[in-house]
Amino acid sequence: MRFVVITGGVISGIGKGTITSSLAYILKERNYSVDIVKIDPYINYDAGTMNPYQHGEVFVLSDGTETDLDLGNYERFLGRDLKSGNNLTTGKIYKWVIEKERRGDFLGSTVQIIPHITDEIKRRIRSIGLEDNADIVLIEVGGVVGDIESMPFLEALRQMRLEEDGRIFFIHVTYVPTLRSVGEPKTKPTQHSVKELRSIGIQPDAIIARSEIELDRDLREKIALFTQVDEKAVIGIPDVGDIFSMPLMLNETVLPNYILDKMGLKANESKMEFWKGVVENITNPSHYVTIGVVGKYVHLKDSYISHEHTFMHVTGKTGIGVKIKWIDSDNAEQEEETLREVDGILIPGGFGPRGIEGKIKAIKFARENKIPLLGICLGFQLSVIEFARNVLGLTGANSTEFNPETKYPVIDLLPEQVGVSDMGGTMRLGDLKLKLRQNTMAFQIYGKEEVSERHRHRYEVNPKYIRDLEKNGLIFSAVDLSDVRMEILEVENHPFFMGSQFHAEFKSRPEKPSVLHEALVRAASKYNSTRRKNFIEQEKFAK
Ligand code: GLN
Repeated sequence: MRFVVITGGVISGIGKGTITSSLAYILKERNYSVDIVKIDPYINYDAGTMNPYQHGEVFVLSDGTETDLDLGNYERFLGRDLKSGNNLTTGKIYKWVIEKERRGDFLGSTVQIIPHITDEIKRRIRSIGLEDNADIVLIEVGGVVGDIESMPFLEALRQMRLEEDGRIFFIHVTYVPTLRSVGEPKTKPTQHSVKELRSIGIQPDAIIARSEIELDRDLREKIALFTQVDEKAVIGIPDVGDIFSMPLMLNETVLPNYILDKMGLKANESKMEFWKGVVENITNPSHYVTIGVVGKYVHLKDSYISHEHTFMHVTGKTGIGVKIKWIDSDNAEQEEETLREVDGILIPGGFGPRGIEGKIKAIKFARENKIPLLGICLGFQLSVIEFARNVLGLTGANSTEFNPETKYPVIDLLPEQVGVSDMGGTMRLGDLKLKLRQNTMAFQIYGKEEVSERHRHRYEVNPKYIRDLEKNGLIFSAVDLSDVRMEILEVENHPFFMGSQFHAEFKSRPEKPSVLHEALVRAASKYNSTRRKNFIEQEKFAK
């Protein structure tokens, strides 16, 4: 087994995660079995309780682990499911060590960061690689070198350098700013950051210098000289338009061959034909559709990153470009105007009452005007509420999450969930199976009777209302294996109105885009062309 460690320098947010994911894809394409471990030095046990204001979207793994969105990127690039062990946090490591201490496993010795915490870190990294039979384990260290929180992790990795003797490679990703007043890129922050890394005993083997502009040879030579890194292994990566170009860009540098060579592995060249096709479609789509995404976190970058990527996957496959129009569910005026312009609507998941009524209005608009709509999780639940209020006439129908006193709790906790005091305890998390009902649009789209999809929710369609909803034209086209929980809905006589209780975006991959998002985009494309035709007819008529 080999290890590639990716650390960050100067500032965060320069694409270390994208570089890690891209490298994973490249190494996989060269026929190696690749695994990734993300180290998040924060004290939280996992990302489940973090709000999107701080960390963007919470991603969910197949085993139900709630993680940082980087794990989502890894899964999508690597094309396979990861598990809890692929994400190490300070919280997890300390919890495991303290549990051992309480059990008496340390036989009375003083428990310390070195060796107990560092041993636990090394053991966890190696054991996940062994479990997955990995040839190469990539380890991305979150944050920036110099942060107090990441010290024990870096110390553990430093120790691994000795123990692994030639089977470990360190990449330091830094930032080379270009001051507008001077106009030239500055390498000093990179020099300092490498100095910091070396002061804790880690000499990087390669440097990826991120910058706004292309770095010339002189600059790379200068970085090499100051950091004692082989000049060949100082790679400049200027800003790329979209993250999907990164694997192609990195593959064209000497880095993949350099890493493999240094660790004594064969290069196994790859032409990356599939990925080139995806990027070609993303950069030159045949035509565009506009999808309005109605949410309360639309101002925050990365809150809906899995949806953004999923639409890219759909473009990669179909050649239909997707322009996302972010619609703030708290801003009713903007909402009304914008909804008229879009070709399709997506209502993503969410928690808490803010913005609910705005989303319900958008759903009503889509249903009545026959605009393609996909509701995910909360979007699914709100579609049921909208239908109950406006078709069944159940005024004030709601979810008990937002109004515990509602007269018509069409979305509610199931009886077995009530009274469980631990909030986490009642969540349905991870990959769960569902059955599709024949003669439905969902069945047609999936083309199978049983599928597994990823969940993260607590509330359910209240079984008491199902018959009435169905009698009035709401079709529940998929249910869980126990027949109790509704999983997909569609509306009769609507070109495309679907909702899923699960997060179809979490399992989307470039090789296999989410079928629901793909169906939404195709329906939006159809809607757009008929609308355009009607418009031309009207123009002709007016003349
Ligand atoms: N808040 C809803 C629930 O807990 C929906 C969750 C979601 O959209 N992920 O059931």
